[in-house]
Amino acid sequence: MKQSLRLGRVAGIPVGINWSVLVILVLITDIVAGNVLPRADAGRSTTLYWAIAIPTAVLFLASLLAHEGAHAAIARRRGLGVRSITLWMLGGVAQLDGEPPNARADFAIAAAGPLTSLVIGGVLLGGAQAAASLGTPAAIVAALAWTGATNVFLAVFNLLPGAPLDGGRILRALVWMRSGDRARGDRAATGTGQIMGAALAGGGIAELIFLGQTGGLWLMLIGWFLVWAAGSEAKARAVQEAAAGVRIRDLMVPEPECATAWRPVGEFIATVAARSRQSVFPVTGFDGLPCGVVTLARLSRVPPARAGDRVDSVATALPPDYAAAPDDPASSLVGRIPLAGALLAAVVADRRVVGMVTTDDLGRLVQQSLLRARSTPSPVE
Ligand SMILES: [Zn+2]
Repeated sequence: MKQSLRLGRVAGIPVGINWSVLVILVLITDIVAGNVLPRADAGRSTTLYWAIAIPTAVLFLASLLAHEGAHAAIARRRGLGVRSITLWMLGGVAQLDGEPPNARADFAIAAAGPLTSLVIGGVLLGGAQAAASLGTPAAIVAALAWTGATNVFLAVFNLLPGAPLDGGRILRALVWMRSGDRARGDRAATGTGQIMGAALAGGGIAELIFLGQTGGLWLMLIGWFLVWAAGSEAKARAVQEAAAGVRIRDLMVPEPECATAWRPVGEFIATVAARSRQSVFPVTGFDGLPCGVVTLARLSRVPPARAGDRVDSVATALPPDYAAAPDDPASSLVGRIPLAGALLAAVVADRRVVGMVTTDDLGRLVQQSLLRARSTPSPVE
């Protein structure tokens, strides 16, 4: 999740919000000012409703932050670093550095968020009750009660037992705790996540068709999002498992044909690209080190008039962390955003390019590990 707006640091952790939060902020203010408050305290001025609705939306955002902060705080207590906290439309994400060391830590980190939302919800609902008995204007009481109830709803929703929700992490931790097998916990959580997402989306579609209620649209979107998120988590997990113990030299394409940066494009196309079996070429500089990547597709779009241009003028630059060593773990490539031509890394040894890795190579690694698992003779029952 990209942080579009940095809010600052809380306990040394960078906290930011994604632009989509602004949408939710406006939406919440609109719902509270236009619906919740007029219903609870009719006949007041619109200005008053908005004057209460805006701090209510901010309070809600702060409670989301507290939820993520609780995940982060417990993760830190269990020795895990926290890279950042980002709020977005459907809640927040606390980015942890690494994986929980054991099932108990996994459980504690996952449970801390919903528990915090539940406590905040309880306190706000109690506060609303107290405020009402003290004769506070009904609009303020309603704002407190609405924020409290929304926090309770948030806690309950997040406790649904499927990845990527907190309930999915709790399920994973419990299966991990009982079986001692983390991968089994992961499969359980992503599996139920997909089923649950499909059920929510189905419910949303039914609501839309049979009840004609547009609220079904939200349910449908959230359901679809859950199915997608659980699926991509399962995929990332499969790659991570397949890459365990594998080094980059074991999966790279060795000794790829490269393009020297200063060569004319036309000459490179005629002598190398037009007859090569590669569709991706690392581009190397004067020092022999990789500095970019160029694809057949890109080369085919170079107009003949530009045949005299240097290769690097049509190449995509290679970020420094996309140069890898043959002995680097393959797992370091998991989750990396592919460059042009699906390139994940140019492999360098002795100051020259000795290999390259594309997403195809990582995909092959997963397929092969699945094949190996299948061909392992199963024990006699
Ligand atoms: Zn959470």
